[in-house]
Amino acid sequence: MSALQEPRILFITSEVYPLCKTGGLGDVSAALPAALRLQQTDTRLLLPGYPQVLAGVKYKSKVAEFGQLAHYPPSFLLSARLSLSKAENIPVFVIDCPGLFQREGGPYMDALGRDWPDNALRFGLLSKIGAILASDASPLAWRPHIAHCNDWQSGLTPAYLHYHRGKKAATLVTIHNLAYQGVFPPGTVVQLGLPAESFNMHGVEYYGNFSFLKAGLYYADHITTVSPNYAEEIQTDNLGFGLQGLLAARKQHLTGIINGIDTREWNPATDRHLVKNYNNLNLPDKAANKHALQQQMGLAPDPDIPLLGVVSRLNHQKGTDLLIQIAPQLVKLPAQLVVLGSDQAELEHQFSTLVQTYPGSIAVRIGFDEGLSHLIEAGVDCFLMPSRFEPCGLNQMYSQRYGTPPIVHATGGLLDTVVDYNPSTLADGTASGFLFYPMQADTLLHTIQQAIRAYHNKKNWQRLQKNGMAKDFGWPASAATYRQIYLSLLS
Ligand code: ADP
Repeated sequence: MSALQEPRILFITSEVYPLCKTGGLGDVSAALPAALRLQQTDTRLLLPGYPQVLAGVKYKSKVAEFGQLAHYPPSFLLSARLSLSKAENIPVFVIDCPGLFQREGGPYMDALGRDWPDNALRFGLLSKIGAILASDASPLAWRPHIAHCNDWQSGLTPAYLHYHRGKKAATLVTIHNLAYQGVFPPGTVVQLGLPAESFNMHGVEYYGNFSFLKAGLYYADHITTVSPNYAEEIQTDNLGFGLQGLLAARKQHLTGIINGIDTREWNPATDRHLVKNYNNLNLPDKAANKHALQQQMGLAPDPDIPLLGVVSRLNHQKGTDLLIQIAPQLVKLPAQLVVLGSDQAELEHQFSTLVQTYPGSIAVRIGFDEGLSHLIEAGVDCFLMPSRFEPCGLNQMYSQRYGTPPIVHATGGLLDTVVDYNPSTLADGTASGFLFYPMQADTLLHTIQQAIRAYHNKKNWQRLQKNGMAKDFGWPASAATYRQIYLSLLS
């Protein structure tokens, strides 16, 4: 098969659903490669061998051994399969390096939320092995045409490849979130075996430090990010996180491609986490999920009160602090609020306190719970995403598919995927949620009030729900765009 008929892609990622997921990157790392494989694109993953990855993949066999690479400890490469469903599995390469990856805790942080002190080495090794496999130094017969890197954790692959003299793959870096940049002290350049000369503005240096992401964005042949609007925003001082100059200079090589969602995993007609499945022809069945959610979360079991929901990391980016500010007014509207999330201890504490102040009206579950997140999407009347910035966002798409109009801040991918409710969008059948701007507590509250007025007009509300449910958020269209970019890099 020629490269143009079936390009070979090494998809390098630091997390993948269902083995290891902290956010949207985990979802994308499973769904996009699966969608690409259905479009004649031989996509294989490269992953760190965390305990849950080693335990979760099938048919492991050792295919290579890496002795001392720079200051990295020795490691092995395993070939395996990641099963996504009975019928579907993806080839994966797993880096088995017990000293760097076999430990209790998260992929990036320990159980107390502190970054692992050796993250530069951990993800330097991921990037380094990615570069080896993508070049003629690879010990494998399978050679990719493209190394597709994701976020800072594989940002050094293009830098390593830049300094490789032999044959090598083209490189693509996808930014899932520009706020995380992999910044380490200047000495990292030597520790990770990159030439000292790369430590300058035209290389890996970033305001006097060393940055994985900056390196990736500088050396990659092409850059993508996860929505067209975010691709524009990251070129501005407001949301460029210090990289706006580089991104604006590279804008000819920067493309925004909206993420899809896994429409089998997120389907209200078949979702096993719901108490009653439904579709756009039997929307009243959605109410059983509201009732179950109210019961399960200790909310007053009232079918008519608007129930608002959040599933989110609880941090500054996600803007959930605005909800804490408006909680007294929300409860008075009246409305109920259910929150599932975790992250920053202070916000977790503030949300937990709200439950004591407003029992029966506000319910909070601190933690990560896949099943409950599905029930919230189905059971609430409106889903809230007051993100300060949002590269793409997935929950606003899930909620539209579940007949749960989202209320979102007009930013990033939220602006690309939600159509604001107003008389003209209702008339032309495009309205699918509510956008608020600017990012302030009073505008959010005002928009929630507007949504609740719409909710009480049952006919309009059903039209809004059905518009959202009819939208196509599947991966095939976006995967086809990635494929076109791969092909353009090959030609
Ligand atoms: P981000 O990647 O910035 O966290 P996204 O909206 O792109 O945000 O993706 C978040 C994903 O993680 C969604 O699938 C969401 O449902 C899930 N998620 C976030 N927090 C939780 C939680 N506490 N429990 C279950 N799922 C969660």
